[in-house]
Amino acid sequence: MVLKAENITKTFRRRHGAVVALDKVSLEIQEGEFVGVVGPSGSGKSTLLATLGGMNSPDEGVVLWGNQSIYDWNVKKRAQWRGADIGFVFQVFNLIPYLSVYENISVGLALSDKDTKARESIARILDELDLAGQKDHTPAELSVGQQQRVALARALIKKPRFILADEPTGNLDPDTGRGVMNIIKLQHAAGTTVVMITHDRAVAEYAQRTIKIVDGRIDNTV
Ligand code: ADP
Ligand code: MG
Repeated sequence: MVLKAENITKTFRRRHGAVVALDKVSLEIQEGEFVGVVGPSGSGKSTLLATLGGMNSPDEGVVLWGNQSIYDWNVKKRAQWRGADIGFVFQVFNLIPYLSVYENISVGLALSDKDTKARESIARILDELDLAGQKDHTPAELSVGQQQRVALARALIKKPRFILADEPTGNLDPDTGRGVMNIIKLQHAAGTTVVMITHDRAVAEYAQRTIKIVDGRIDNTV
């Protein structure tokens, strides 16, 4: 499936005036790609990712999944799509503080999936991400790198077709960051499409294609 933005514009109205976060952005992500998104802070990268992921309705323009306009779907249909096809890794991990690691990961699964098979796949992903020993702990009891891996596990557990990751290594030390990158690379090698915002040059080099955002627009000069 192709994920496509056509002329999307998003303006945030604030007390001291409006900010144009996205200004007529068009782009296309083919299934199987690994796309890096770079650009200065405040340029609209997170807004773009959230808009592509169905979490931020543009003022103008459309986001297409195949030939369907995702913001023309109702909230429930969009949530179902996101639940099935999109794994979102947030810049801040958005873990639920009062749930254990195990429970936080299981949040990524649809309710109907919480059966024996789900328990097995959670056990497998805990192993893969080196979190098995942490499964009964709460996020506050984990290191930052472990928290990011839980957030990644929650996104990967449902085997999404697309992973949208907002600076997944931004808050990690280089070693832990490489570990998280390796997991994302393996996931891409297994066929998952990856769109990843990053400030890290080394990380951007993993990407097959890089999109630069400046002042809410795609900068084609790179
Ligand atoms: P980046 O991820 O590239 O740092 P963002 O997409 O977070 O940039 O933000 C782009 C611009 O939109 C910034 O000026 C930011 O302050 C503004 N912005 C983002 N989200 C909101 C919001 N929810 N309300 C008001 N302004 C916002
Ligand atoms: Mg951001």
